[in-house]
Parts: sequence; C-alpha cells; structure tokens
Amino acid sequence: MVDLISQYEKVQDEIDKAVLDVIRSSAYINGPEVRAFQKELEDYLDVKHVIPCANGTDALQIAMMGLGLQPGDEVITANFTYVATAEVIALLQLKPVLVDVDPDTFNIDVEAIKKAITPKTKAIVPVHLFGQSAPMEEIMLLASEHDLFVIEDTAQAIGADYEFSDGRKQKAGTIGNVGGTSFFPSKNLGCYGDGGAIFTNDDELAHKLRSIANHGQAERYYHDRVGVNSRLDSIQAAILRIKLRQLDDYARLRNQAADFYDSAFKDISQIKTPVRFEQSNHVFHQYTMVLDGIDRTEMKTYLEEHGVPAMIYYPVPLHLQKAYLDERYAEGDFPVTERLCPAVLSLPMQTELDEEQLNHITETVKNFIKDKA
Ligand SMILES: *Cc1c(COP(=O)(O)O)cnc(C)c1O
Repeated sequence: MVDLISQYEKVQDEIDKAVLDVIRSSAYINGPEVRAFQKELEDYLDVKHVIPCANGTDALQIAMMGLGLQPGDEVITANFTYVATAEVIALLQLKPVLVDVDPDTFNIDVEAIKKAITPKTKAIVPVHLFGQSAPMEEIMLLASEHDLFVIEDTAQAIGADYEFSDGRKQKAGTIGNVGGTSFFPSKNLGCYGDGGAIFTNDDELAHKLRSIANHGQAERYYHDRVGVNSRLDSIQAAILRIKLRQLDDYARLRNQAADFYDSAFKDISQIKTPVRFEQSNHVFHQYTMVLDGIDRTEMKTYLEEHGVPAMIYYPVPLHLQKAYLDERYAEGDFPVTERLCPAVLSLPMQTELDEEQLNHITETVKNFIKDKA
C-alpha cells in the first residue's frame, strides 16, 4: 500500500546524515532536534504550541488528561474511525458516545452530534478521516453553545486546510482546544518508528500537556500531577524535520494519484470515488472507494492476485467491536457506518506511485468489473 523505501531514497543523503549526527551527538532524548522540529511544526501549522510525544494514541490521551476530563464524562466521537480514538476515552474511564458519519466525506455528522449532547457531555472528538477536515466551523459553534471541549484527531490529515465561511483558513488540528497527530511511518508525515504530537494555542493548557507527557513534572523530580512517559526520540525528530519540508509536496503527489483514480473510475457506476468536502482540501491519507453491487471480498482477492494491494478501513464499526460492546448500542443504530463498513475499499495511496503503477491498478480494477458484468 505504501512504498516507504522509494520515498526515503529521494532524501536519503539528508536523512542518513541527520540520523548519524544525532547518534554522534548522543542527545537521544529531548535533544536540540526535538526542539527544532517542534518550532518548525509550530510555524508550519501556525499554532502557538506543539508538544511532541511518543505516538498518536498518547497524543489523544494526554490531550484528554490535560483538559481534566473525569471518569463518567461523556465524550462524543465518530463510530467510523480507527480504534485509538475510542480506546483512550475508555482507558481514562470516560464514556464514549458514538455517533454516525456523513456518507460522502466519512467524517462525523454534525446533526448526529447535536442529538448526542446531554448534560454530561464534556467534549467532542472529531476525527479528520482519510485526509479531509471534519466540519469544524459547525462543530466549534456547537461546542461553544454547549460549553464543550474540542479535541481534534488529526492523525490522518496533517497539513489539511479548513476554510471557514468568512474565507479564513486554519490547519486541521489547530482549530479546537487541542489537536493530536501521529507520525507512524505510513501517515502523511511519517517518521521511521513511532512518534506523535499535540497542538494547542492555549498557553496554560500547553504547559500542562508538556508536564503530563513528562511524568507530571514541570521541574525535574517535582511531580505536580500524575503523568505519563511519552517522548519523541531525537532521531525521529531529525527525520521529521526533513520530511516536514516535503509535506506539501507529498500532499500534491497524493492528490495526483487520487485524480488519476477519479478519472479512471468516473464512468463506473459500481464505484463511488471519494467526495471532496468543500471546506477542506484533501491530503489523501487514504483513497477510499465505496462499492455498490460488487462483492468486495472477491474484488480484493482479484486485485491482490494481480499484484494490487487493497485494504479495508474499517471493516467493523466501533459499536460492534468486542471490546466496545455496550448495551446502549445495537446493530442497526448507525445506518451510515454500518452501510460503509462492508462496502469500503482503499487502493494504494502514497507519494511514489508512477503512471505505470497507476495504470496497472486502474486497469486491474476495470478488468475485474468487466469480468463480473
Ligand atoms: C494512526 C491513528 C491514530 C494512532 O496513532 P498511533 O501513532 O498509531 O498511536 C489515532 N487516530 C487515527 C485516526 C489514526 O489513524
């Protein structure tokens, strides 16, 4: 699905040198590379504070801890997402309140959020799924009406711009009280191991988040609160500094591949290609099609037999996952998510797809559909 080696080879000299420099400096933890990356990411995102941490899941957990959410507080999030979002809510003994998504953008449905708000609701966690921002203007409005925190899961949409109705643009992840992202290797801004970061414009919250990520200390060996140990390695920061400079170009290359797929499939009625949300540009973390009248398992097998990897994000909605079964929810409660899970299929999406590969992928898809027709 993702060719990380070819991507590496394009910046190999720079990366090799940066990694060796860190090794030779012996500043492996919290070294100057981490501070430099933090500053550069703050500038790129136009956000006051970036707090680097160990991974995207930690970013969300630390964000929720920093906001002082308490056991039993209700946190609204999308049912159609990666498990990490709901996992940290459950781990902190908060109460996940799942809502359905929009069938076109796959992002959290604002009307569904409205219906889910109760006096116990404390926060909304929009997930910017597959590379597009969730409808942040409406979400921020709802949050301010009901005095709720907004925690953005930006693991799949770093670099995406959200446009407000007055024309103002802001990067996804920097609009709510706090945002979190992941630098897992296959993410749009991926390092060569695990990594993550938290974003906020709130000085006081930033101080707290930094302390929580560092064993609850602001001063060494003085622990003001219960924290966690969540750090970004200096080697990963050095790699991320180089890749951050490529991020807009990476998004452009992903969009080129998406445009190629779109035009190849435009006349195929059984394939619904990704719908672009007007308020956000798309950074195509995934290229996810919705299939109609096609046997997905058969298609996936056919593609794989012809050298085309394809993945299912996500096969099972959260409310039907064993670990998250809850008497509040039953099969049928989330019609859109339940319609999407058996129908979505994602094609290879990355920065290194050349025309020959794209042709092979799209021709293989078309051949499968022709054979079945
Ligand atoms: C990848 C991902 C995460 C978790 O990131 P890790 O770095 O793997 O912990 C969280 N939320 C979403 C939507 C993701 O895609």
